Formats: sequence, structure tokens, C-alpha cells
Amino acid sequence: MSEKKLRQAIDTLRESGVRITPQRHAVLDYLLNSMTHPTADEIYKALEGKFPNMSVATVYNNLRVLREIGLVRELTYGDASSRFDCNTSEHYHAICQECGKIVDFHYPTLDEVESLAEQVTGFDVSHHRMEIYGKCEACQTRELQKQY
Ligand SMILES: [Zn+2]
Ligand SMILES: [Zn+2]
Repeated sequence: MSEKKLRQAIDTLRESGVRITPQRHAVLDYLLNSMTHPTADEIYKALEGKFPNMSVATVYNNLRVLREIGLVRELTYGDASSRFDCNTSEHYHAICQECGKIVDFHYPTLDEVESLAEQVTGFDVSHHRMEIYGKCEACQTRELQKQY
């Protein structure tokens, strides 16, 4: 499954004329295999053993290139820790307030919200983002275990 995705992603890189360096390949591979929406720092830590000469800046650079050609989405939360998502299909996120885990879920796109916002505000709406906050299953279990 992710092998196929990786091959498709590499085709997209080629078509966009982007050079496929071993680091770029590794960053992409890591993102496609982790559904955890990692930060650049987490990707760096996971790959530094394999590429001792790679810096966090290199990881950022690679992520920027991947974002520009549409293979990766950057999720910013108003702080330094952007998270990166290689699931570029329309989806929403449930975010755990305890451990920060982000889980994808699909829901029919809320197109009506966009047209309503356009009518009410006169904005030319480009997109919207919705996040659901709560406690993930693992954190709920941990809490239950603490109680008994
Ligand atoms: Zn959690
Ligand atoms: Zn996602």
C-alpha cells in the first residue's frame, strides 16, 4: 500500500522536475509510513541515524519542497511546531489534548459552511479547517487504569 504511494509520490517529484536526493526520499518514505503527523524535529530524530550529516534545516527544506508540489500538507498551530501530513485528500483531524496525537477522519466536506461564510462576510473563501479536540483512546485507557 505505502510502497505504491511512495512510487506515485516519486513519479510526482520527477514530473515536477524535483531532484530526488536520498534524504528527500527518506523524508517522504517516513511521512508515508507514519500516520502520526510528525513535526520536522520528529522526522529529523527518526532519520539522523541513517543520515548523520543531515540537519533539521535540511529536513525543513525537503518538507517545503514536498509541500510546494502538493505532496505534503503543513498544519500550523500558531506555535513553532508545524506538523506534516502526507494525506492530501480532504479530511479533518481529531486532536488529543493529553498527548497531542492527531487522528484523521473523513466527513463530507462542509461546503455549505464556506458558502455561508462568503455570504455573511463577503470573503472569497479559499478553504477551511476543522479540528475536533478531546482525549484519544490510549489516554482514556491510561486514565481508567490510574483510577483502579
Ligand atoms: Zn492521547
Ligand atoms: Zn491528516
